[in-house]
Amino acid sequence: MSASQLYDNHGRPLNYLRLAVTDRCNLRCFYCMPEEGIKYLPKKQLLTFEEIERLITLLAEMGISKVRLTGGEPFVRTDLMSLIRRIVSIEGINDVHLTTNGILTGPYIPELKSLGIASVNLSLDTLDRERFKTITRRDEFEKTWTTLQQLLRVQIPVKINAVVMDGKNIDDILPLVELTRQHPVSVRFIEEMPFNGEGNHYASLPWTYKKILELIRSHYPMLERLPDPPHSTSTNYKIPGHAGDIGIIAAFSRTFCGTCNRIRITAQGVLKTCLYDEGVLNIKNLMREGRSDDEIKAELLKSFSNRPKDGFEAEERRSGTPAIESMSTIGG
Ligand code: SAM
Ligand code: SF4
Repeated sequence: MSASQLYDNHGRPLNYLRLAVTDRCNLRCFYCMPEEGIKYLPKKQLLTFEEIERLITLLAEMGISKVRLTGGEPFVRTDLMSLIRRIVSIEGINDVHLTTNGILTGPYIPELKSLGIASVNLSLDTLDRERFKTITRRDEFEKTWTTLQQLLRVQIPVKINAVVMDGKNIDDILPLVELTRQHPVSVRFIEEMPFNGEGNHYASLPWTYKKILELIRSHYPMLERLPDPPHSTSTNYKIPGHAGDIGIIAAFSRTFCGTCNRIRITAQGVLKTCLYDEGVLNIKNLMREGRSDDEIKAELLKSFSNRPKDGFEAEERRSGTPAIESMSTIGG
């Protein structure tokens, strides 16, 4: 149980932290990072494991009970497992989740299972090796696929994240849906957002959640809507008789802000109270200035009490730069 309940200024409970442990990655997914010229943060700009542990402990005392580790690719951070071991034992943290591209994840799956990791989100935008190579700019499909099989074998709940990209992987939507026939996996189609480090390349988003849904429904007219779990960002569906289910995430259209329960901490230790804001509090600096736990909590509370009502308001509040930074620094 959380020590207390935390609410924002719009009365939304906050209980979910997504923390990027690094901005580095072993893939170059074109919707997330430019192919070249990426300037990674110097290592001393990343939160240390001690700082992450302290921060999560403070947030757990304030009411955060669920943590997702993301990145960049979390498994490129040296000794990630020692951080996970620390986090699962923090009082008040009930669920620890991971988002990974699966390339380096395989050897750690038995320990993730024994540590009780609640679920893994695996990024997989295509089932075709050549398209995987085009999208991620690396020829690593087999490793991600093997990781998926291993996760299913040990029964760690797994969600596949597939970003829907015009002209790139539309032919993969139905094969990905087909995965749910045999496998107890949740396949989530995500609207492409402008966070690729370069800006939006569409005048208007061609594949909105509505269009993705229409395509799936036209092939599976029996598609059933599932009830929304609390604070879900996806609308969820099931094809009768299939082992798994399907979700569609309106990440660009931003239909889910009204129930948003999440905060983010970027790889450089900056708090974001909305995916679309530009970072509202540098917590790493506070810790390195020697601020006390109570002082840091007070600063966090101030930010939680000034949360934009939705992603559009967060974008308006940005002081200059548009929302185009690489998702590898935000964590998704
Ligand atoms: N490297 C890990 C991975 O790929 O799963 C974790 C970090 S990645 C930034 C987290 C999630 O953000 C992935 O599922 C990825 O597909 C998603 N993502 C990245 N850029 C995106 C974009 N421009 N629009 C929508 N989703 C994006
Ligand atoms: Fe790396 Fe994940 Fe971004 Fe792809 S989506 S480049 S795997 S951080």
